[in-house]
Parts: sequence; C-alpha cells; structure tokens
Amino acid sequence: MATLAEKVARPQIRQTQCFIGGKWVPAASGKTFDTIHPATEEVIAQVAEGDAKDIDLAVDAARAQFDGGEWSQMDARDRGALMHKLADLIEAEVDELAALETLDNGKPISDSRAADIPLVIDCLRYYAGWADKIQGKTIPIRGEYFCYTRREPVGVVGQIIPWNFPALMAAWKWGPALAAGCTIVMKPAEQTPLTCLRMARLAQKAGIPDGVINVVPGYGPTAGAALVAHPGVDKIAFTGEMSTAQIIQRSAAETMKRLTFELGGKSPNVIFADADLDAAAAGAHFALYFNQGQCCCAGSRLFVEDRVHDEMVDRLIQFNRDRKVGDPFDPETEQGPQVDQAQFDKILKYVDYGKADGADCVSGGKRHGDRGLFIEPTLFTNVTDEMRIATDEIFGPVLTVLKFSDIDEIIRRANNTNFGLAAGVWTRDVGKAHRFASKVRAGTVWVNCYDVFDAAAPFGGFKQSGLGRELGEAGLDAYTESKTVTMAL
Ligand code: ADP
Repeated sequence: MATLAEKVARPQIRQTQCFIGGKWVPAASGKTFDTIHPATEEVIAQVAEGDAKDIDLAVDAARAQFDGGEWSQMDARDRGALMHKLADLIEAEVDELAALETLDNGKPISDSRAADIPLVIDCLRYYAGWADKIQGKTIPIRGEYFCYTRREPVGVVGQIIPWNFPALMAAWKWGPALAAGCTIVMKPAEQTPLTCLRMARLAQKAGIPDGVINVVPGYGPTAGAALVAHPGVDKIAFTGEMSTAQIIQRSAAETMKRLTFELGGKSPNVIFADADLDAAAAGAHFALYFNQGQCCCAGSRLFVEDRVHDEMVDRLIQFNRDRKVGDPFDPETEQGPQVDQAQFDKILKYVDYGKADGADCVSGGKRHGDRGLFIEPTLFTNVTDEMRIATDEIFGPVLTVLKFSDIDEIIRRANNTNFGLAAGVWTRDVGKAHRFASKVRAGTVWVNCYDVFDAAAPFGGFKQSGLGRELGEAGLDAYTESKTVTMAL
C-alpha cells in the first residue's frame, strides 16, 4: 500500500486515451499531445489528441445512449444513486486525484486537497439530490383542459472546460447534466486533461452506463470546434474566454444549440474605510492571488477608500512578502506556477504595460526563481481606470489598487467595464453594503467575504461575462427543456 506521502508525490496516470461509449480508445488519427507539470515543465504524459473523427464517435455514443433512454428514462432516484456512487469513489481517492490535479495544473496540493476535489464531491452530491426532484407544474388554463408542464433533459450536451479548475469545472458541468438525464461529450482543456479522464473511469466503475459520459481530449479549434458544430449535439456548455465564446456562438447558431457560457471578469473588490481592515486586507489578498490569480472571478480591481489606502497597501505588500511561492507538492506552498508558457508570457507583458502606463509596481513584478512558470505576487498602485492593467483580464498574480472617495463614485467606476461576473464589498455599514450589492452589475456579490462558492448558489455573469447560470437550481434548469402538455377533458 502506498503511503499518503507517496500517493501525493507520485500520482499514477492511468487514463490518457479518449473515453467513448464506455471504451478507452486512442485518437482515430493516432496522434497524441504532451501534458506538462508547470512547476518543472517536464512532460508527464502523452494524451490522445482527439479531433473531428473522435467527436463524431463520441456524439454517436452519447446520442445512442440518450435516444435509447437507458439513462434519461431510468428511475430518477436510481440515477441519483449512481451519482452518489461516483462521488463516493472520488472521495475514496481524494488524495490521488488532488495530486493528479497538482501535477497537471501546478496548483498547490493544499488547495487541490482542501478545495478542488472536496468541491467536486460536494457538487456531485448536491446534484445527485436533484435527480428525483425535477418537477413540472399544473397550469389552470382557460377552458375544459388539463394543462401541465414536464421538465425533460435537453439531450446530448457538449461541454468544453478550461484548465484553471479542471476537475471542478468537470463536476459543475456533469452534475446538472447527469441529474437531468442528459448524456455528455466533454472536451477538457488541452493543458489539463488528466483528472477529467480519471473521473470518467470512476464514473464507469460507479456503474454509470456506457455512453452517458464521453471524454475527448484535444485542442479547441479541432475537437472543440467539431463538438460545437455537430448536429447531434443539443446544447453547448462552455467556460473560457469571451473571444472563444463568440466563435462558439456563431457556429452554434447554425443548429440553434442551447448555450451557457461562463466567461471572464475584471471584478471590482471595494474596501470602505469603515470595514474590518484586517479581514478586508486578508480577503483582498485571497480574492486575487488564490489559484495563482487564475480565477475568472478574481478580485482584480481593488478599490480602496482614500482614507485607508496607504495603510491597506502596506498590509497587502506584507502579505505578498510572506506568501510562500514554490513547489506545489510542498504542503506549505501557497502559490504554484502559472499553467503554461503562454499564460506566463501574457502576465509579464501586462506587468510591462502597467509600468509603461505609469502605475507603480510596489511588489513583485518578475519571474520567481529560474525554473518553472512561477511569477512573484505583484501589486500595482497609482493605477487609473483606463490603464490596460485596470481594464483587461490578466489571469495571473497581479493586483491593481485604485483609490476612491464616495459610494456613488465607486458604483459608477465598479460598473465601468464590459465584464459583470463578480464583485466584493467590505464595510460595517449594512446600508452601504446592500446599496452596493443592488447597484453593481455582476452575477455574484460577496459582502465581507470573497470566493465563497457553494453548489447550491447560482454563479454566472452579467454583460460579457456569460450567458445563463451554473450551480443551484438555475444551473439544473439550463439542462432541461420545458414541455407543455394540454389535454381536453
Ligand atoms: P483559456 O484562455 O482559459 O484557455 P479558451 O477559451 O482558449 O480559454 O479555452 C477554454 C476551452 O475552450 C479549452 O478547452 C479550449 O480547448 C476550448 N477552445 C478553444 N478554442 C475553441 C474553439 N474554437 N471551439 C471550441 N472550443 C475551443
């Protein structure tokens, strides 16, 4: 038996092929691609590089399973029981899955062990409970009729996910789809396919029927685009960049697919002078640097009321000095590497933009160490609203601090963005908190906290941050069609 330390230090990589119709198969082209460990840039596995052919096979398998009705018409409580079984199997290997996530993505093992994989389990259990609670309504229409609605599964769903929370994004998408009775073709991100493939194996072990979950690893413009264009797919659920969502929306228009999108953000996090400043400083640090700054809802525009600005900046600099950056397998590590070279280069380009645009880089600003894709926790002050570091999503450990002086001003400036995913506000004045929460155009508002997620609480974006909601009952609705049945009496 491997000890915990061994399991965490050397996770086994057991699944690297496409998972189609319950079979593990190489890509039809025979091609593979490398997945790397971002802390050392070593290749950890070659993974099947699926493309349009493999997507065709996977959609056929998902379609046959859906149309055959084994899953969609199974007693709903039995469907829920199989989802619970999957959650149990994931729980039984939580250490290995956390290690696999850290290996593939580079996130600290303390995060993948305490947050990512437990949240996967929680999400699957939450939606398992919904499976037998998806109900229609009876409707009193005019005349001698009996009218009712049914909520039916939307069908075959294509799910395309990013690399920042690979296992968790899979769970957010599998949970409601499985509960509703849909069948799935998932394309994980090319940077991080491994935990999704492992979870597919566990789904098979749990007894979820063949063809319900299919996974085709590969690249976006090939495998992803083929999934979006496929006429046998009823809905696409996508998390990633706005520019990719626009490509998907155009292509999906041809077949009128249902769409849900969870996209980027430049979320305002607002600290009023009357806040609990200790909690606000720690919360602002966490809101941006968690997950190496690779969160779509990162609190990346930090607005601090002018009276407490300098004091808050001092605290934030100290947090950055104390932050432990390094080997993600060290349980003490708080910040690992960025996921790949492209992200690493983009972040350092934005650091250059910040300096060129006249902001002050008062903390970090460089590569950390000389091996792996690490970046120092970076902080800019003297930032103005129109600078590129204040308008664009950087997706890295770069915090921009802006000053403000009153609530009307801050509501206007917080909303001065095309994004609308999340917002934070720190104050002891409940009136101010509610006023901000009601006026800010964002899908989630955190008051005196940040990044508090729960499978029961809907999440998604206003404006260009998304379409529809994930999680909660709203997330489930996005996987159902409403059917109205009217019968003459
Ligand atoms: P990120 O910058 O987070 O990688 P992307 O939008 O590029 O954001 O990628 C998110 C997911 O979308 C990945 O799984 C990627 O492979 C996929 N993807 C990228 N381009 C396309 C496309 N043209 N069609 C479908 N999926 C795509």
